[in-house]
Amino acid sequence: MDGKPMPMPLRVIDLLRHAARNHPGAEIVSRRVEGDIHRSTYAEAYARACRVARALRDELGVSPGDKVATLAWNTHRHLELYYGTAGLGAVIHTINPRLAGDQLAWICNHAGDRVLCFDGTFAPLVAAVAPQLRTVQAFVQLSPGPAAAAPLPEVLDYEALLARVPGADMDWPAVDENATCGLCYTSGTTGDPKGVGYTPRSTVLHAYASALPDSLDLSARDTVMPVVPMFHVNAWGLPFTLPMVGAKMVLPGPALDGRSIYELCESEGVTMAAGVPTIWLGLLQHLRANGLKFTSLRKTVIGGAAAGEAMVRAFEQEHGVAVIHGWGMTETSPVAAINQPTRRHEALTPDERIRLKTRQGREVFGVEMRIEDESGRELPRDGRAAGRLLVRGPWVAQAYQGGLQAARADGWFDTGDIASIDPEGYMLIVDRAKDMVKSGGEWISSIDLENAAMSHPAVLEAAVIGLPHPKWDERPLLVCVRRDGAQLRAEDVLEHLRPRVARWWLPETVEFVDALPHGPTGKVLKTVLRQQYAGHASK
Ligand code: ADP
Repeated sequence: MDGKPMPMPLRVIDLLRHAARNHPGAEIVSRRVEGDIHRSTYAEAYARACRVARALRDELGVSPGDKVATLAWNTHRHLELYYGTAGLGAVIHTINPRLAGDQLAWICNHAGDRVLCFDGTFAPLVAAVAPQLRTVQAFVQLSPGPAAAAPLPEVLDYEALLARVPGADMDWPAVDENATCGLCYTSGTTGDPKGVGYTPRSTVLHAYASALPDSLDLSARDTVMPVVPMFHVNAWGLPFTLPMVGAKMVLPGPALDGRSIYELCESEGVTMAAGVPTIWLGLLQHLRANGLKFTSLRKTVIGGAAAGEAMVRAFEQEHGVAVIHGWGMTETSPVAAINQPTRRHEALTPDERIRLKTRQGREVFGVEMRIEDESGRELPRDGRAAGRLLVRGPWVAQAYQGGLQAARADGWFDTGDIASIDPEGYMLIVDRAKDMVKSGGEWISSIDLENAAMSHPAVLEAAVIGLPHPKWDERPLLVCVRRDGAQLRAEDVLEHLRPRVARWWLPETVEFVDALPHGPTGKVLKTVLRQQYAGHASK
């Protein structure tokens, strides 16, 4: 027989089991839905995951391949559910509770969820959609919540369910490393949502790749707060990566406002936090308004939408927190590109460093990126040519739930983003193809224009959409939210933009609103803005 290593399949449960054996005392701290702070360890989390698996299998009849859905915040309970479910060979299907009821029911039915576990916060939502759910056989409530207006079908209490089964170590089944163990639907801003499946193989490889020093740079010496929800692409895989490295985990529960996040960061000595720009806007505003500084936070991962210059500058220069900008999608598990500097960049000036960090980053080993023009020809990596961004790799989607093809026949997945890649491999997202504004035959990047507007100290948030124009095809409309109490006129914003963008990029009008519409993952909903300004004529 040829000499070769053991053909042991990769398993998700082994991540937590490893943490329980090697970092038994490393803490998992959660702000519970009940409002208090809950403290446990990897050893306790593993023991509870064993109970979860037994409860699902022996009390609820869950078999390998069955879908266990969650509508839950980032807490220790959600974490146990991830592992207990995947350990059995069943599928953990995290649902975004910010979706509209109909869409939520559609997703549940499409996935064929058998069990639905929900935090009490979402009891009214579950009660409202329950009559539409065709496949759910058991409802499990994880935490207390408001009384639901409509009566719920029989609901099992999670803690009571776990108390009924033994907590001894489980003899975990040998699950196929290529069978689905996780499921997450894209937000579906256009068309029906699409279900993206993950496997033990994709999950474990993604965790290895995420932990690397030039990736998210995680170790047992870190205390990490995933602010990004566990229903948003598995909190970017952190519930898998953190046990792999034995980092202390701080879970913020339902309290995602700036003040709560800051207090938890300080009280738990968080060294790294991960979230989308919208959440960080709230946090930075809280710090600024109250003259606060971080005492432990050293780095922050920002992704899901572009981290503009103003945000990178605020973290790095006002707070001494290094920004790790990343790019990914539900279809890429999601970590695909991460921006970490190389030795060469130590010589950069502070401003050059900030500008570098606004790029979305280089391929994490395992993922390959390429850019193409309209005819499918590969474009050069010269930092100038921009085209459709394609990716491939062992944690990139091949097909969607139900069989719809995700990747093209040639094996590449078309991201729908427009990007450039520089000679060192740093990729820059120019825009989502559908958000670019086409003016006079040329493209305007809505992201660039938004970031230029948000670099004005009195602009809190900005969004750009294209409005139809008889002569130019489309012209950009800039919609801004003023910072609290700021006096700001359209002329001031235009004055600020003038030296920063090409003349023909300058919008004719600037609108001010109290708040921008955000989607279920915290991104600005341009579809809604387009509807709101549908009759608004460009001058
Ligand atoms: P969700 O909206 O649930 O996060 P998607 O998978 O639809 O899921 O989001 C992926 C898209 O988000 C990418 O195609 C890209 O347009 C955008 N995106 C993600 N990260 C960044 C980033 N760092 N900068 C700019 N856009 C980003």
